[in-house]
Amino acid sequence: MNRIETKKIKIGNVTLGGSNKILIQSMCDIKTSNYKKVIKQINECARLGASMMRVSIQDNDDVSAITKIKEKVSIPVICDIHYSLDFALKAIGAGADAIRINPGNINNNDKLNVLLKIAHRDRIPIRIGVNEGSLKISKEEKKDNEKIAKALVDKTLEYVKYFEEHNFDNIVLSVKSSSPDVTLIAYRMIAKKTNYPIHIGVTESGFDEVGIIRSISVLSPLILEGIGSTIRISLTKDPYKEIITAKRLLHDLGLYSNYPTLISCPTCGRTMVKNIKVYCEKTLKYLEDNNINIKVAIMGCPVNGINEAKDADLGLAGAGHDFIIFKKGKEIAKVKEKDALKALFAEIDTFKKVK
Ligand code: SF4
Repeated sequence: MNRIETKKIKIGNVTLGGSNKILIQSMCDIKTSNYKKVIKQINECARLGASMMRVSIQDNDDVSAITKIKEKVSIPVICDIHYSLDFALKAIGAGADAIRINPGNINNNDKLNVLLKIAHRDRIPIRIGVNEGSLKISKEEKKDNEKIAKALVDKTLEYVKYFEEHNFDNIVLSVKSSSPDVTLIAYRMIAKKTNYPIHIGVTESGFDEVGIIRSISVLSPLILEGIGSTIRISLTKDPYKEIITAKRLLHDLGLYSNYPTLISCPTCGRTMVKNIKVYCEKTLKYLEDNNINIKVAIMGCPVNGINEAKDADLGLAGAGHDFIIFKKGKEIAKVKEKDALKALFAEIDTFKKVK
């Protein structure tokens, strides 16, 4: 897949942009001062596949926590700051790997200039994250998604120009809206106008499937067009699901190989086995938990099932009230439904060893 090559930006021990792979990020949903829990969450997110995590900074207790957090985590920590640039400066002093600000929430150019100077000196990147909510858009403009997107992009580029005029180009950009259409237009527009790495995501996208569908409706086309150096699937109160979903998306688009593939049929009147959805869930979990990155199929019947899934490494296909286990399209065993998962997992383990 062709990717639009951008300037490279180093955040802590990772490099984003250039032709590097798309990195997954999320944000802690715990107050940063509660540093023990934050450390645990960041480390779990890193285990699941996050390359960097964002934390919010609202007060001095949050700032103080940064040093302690940095000692115990191995991925970069980005400090998210609204309104007070004093906290941005303090966060850099405490060891933040990058800062995210929405300049629309900051009205003090003198302080911004100081921040740019210090961030430049310490080689700390700043993400200019402009969201639709912080824009002043006329009622007329609001009726037209193209105009909203253009306003988002123009405002972002205005800040970029300001940063550059102050000798600062260690920049990552994002232009988010809760409207998938506006977000899509804005990212396509800004990708044509700048060479800085872009963080893509939909803001306030919602919870669970609501947020997943909304996010993916935007991220898939952008990624396929080569846009985006980092991604976030924003989901209400669920950073772990954010990361797993991002990983699945990148995997399905052929950009993340370190992940299993599970395929399953929708089932139909030919399906006689009972708990096929549970087997799908348990099989994917088994593959994920054991880091076994093979392709497994769970099918409701052998009529179409084995043939349709013949490129799977292993699979189960309902056969009446029993199951057939198949390997690369060939039946290798027949088992009772109650024994099917155990038998499949044993075959998966053997396959992994041979592989
Ligand atoms: S694989 Fe079999 S059970 Fe599944 S949808 Fe196709 S015909 Fe129906």
